[in-house]
Amino acid sequence: MSRPAGRFAPSPTGPLHAGSLVAALASWLDARALNGRWLVRIEDVDTPRCVAGVDALILAQLAACGLHPDEPVVWQSQRGAAYLAALQQLQQRGMVFPCACSRRDIEAAWETIGQVRTRHGELVYPGTCRLGLQGQPARAQRLRCVHADGSDVIVGWTDRRLGPQTQNVTQAIGDFVLQRADGLWAYQLAVVVDDAAQGITHVVRGEDIADNTARQIHLQRQLGLPTPQYLHTPLVLAADGQKLSKQNGASAFDSRDPLAALRTAGAVLGIKAHGGTVADWLASAVQSWAAMFVPTISRATAQPLVR
Ligand code: GLU
Repeated sequence: MSRPAGRFAPSPTGPLHAGSLVAALASWLDARALNGRWLVRIEDVDTPRCVAGVDALILAQLAACGLHPDEPVVWQSQRGAAYLAALQQLQQRGMVFPCACSRRDIEAAWETIGQVRTRHGELVYPGTCRLGLQGQPARAQRLRCVHADGSDVIVGWTDRRLGPQTQNVTQAIGDFVLQRADGLWAYQLAVVVDDAAQGITHVVRGEDIADNTARQIHLQRQLGLPTPQYLHTPLVLAADGQKLSKQNGASAFDSRDPLAALRTAGAVLGIKAHGGTVADWLASAVQSWAAMFVPTISRATAQPLVR
């Protein structure tokens, strides 16, 4: 069996805050508890949302907390050839179709049958361009999200923290975008290609992304790639009850006091650790994480490796 590997995959849209540090710490603790590799991947495919220099800032914040990647950092903006190869593999099997619909077109298609978009609700693709573009220019590339026999794509998996999960991807999401109208690669395709290329066996990330997992597992199956294990961490909520984010005022954690930031992140995860230095606290936290999330059998070879 290949050595376990986990990753932290921030989008460089802003510095790490109390919420994103939870995901970073959890993925690191998990990799260490499994005696595996821990990698960092900068997810900078959505270039209009990326902020110059934030990638370096994030890496410095991680380093201040003693979280050092075991291999060179990967930037998704350098990985276009791999995403294109995956798209072509799916195209050759007739699983992808070009789509001319704008967001407004999709909303209008639903309005004609009396469906309205709910706040934060997914806009399920109504299948408009599945049978052809009707003379319109192609904007995006979508994955046909239905089985060859016409049955729905239903994906089940067991989240290591949330337990059994299932999603009917056909009904809940529909044919999803692999390459956007502006030519940029969609998160779903990039993350699946990169998790496989980096040999990721254990994905640990925030619970707000949990509902992307079924799409990613479906895509892995279509591309013949292995499915990692998933664990989604609790979210840190802002005063308004929403997920902590730049939009509701989350500020960068204070990397002059990394131990305090780690203790706060650890408390969100239910970690019971002691230690007056970053290295001591991390070594203790690995044991606490392992007791919660790593079965004894996988822990047999684990060592509290702190660099
Ligand atoms: N880049 C995503 C984010 O920052 C995380 C993706 C993932 O962990 O799969 O929200």
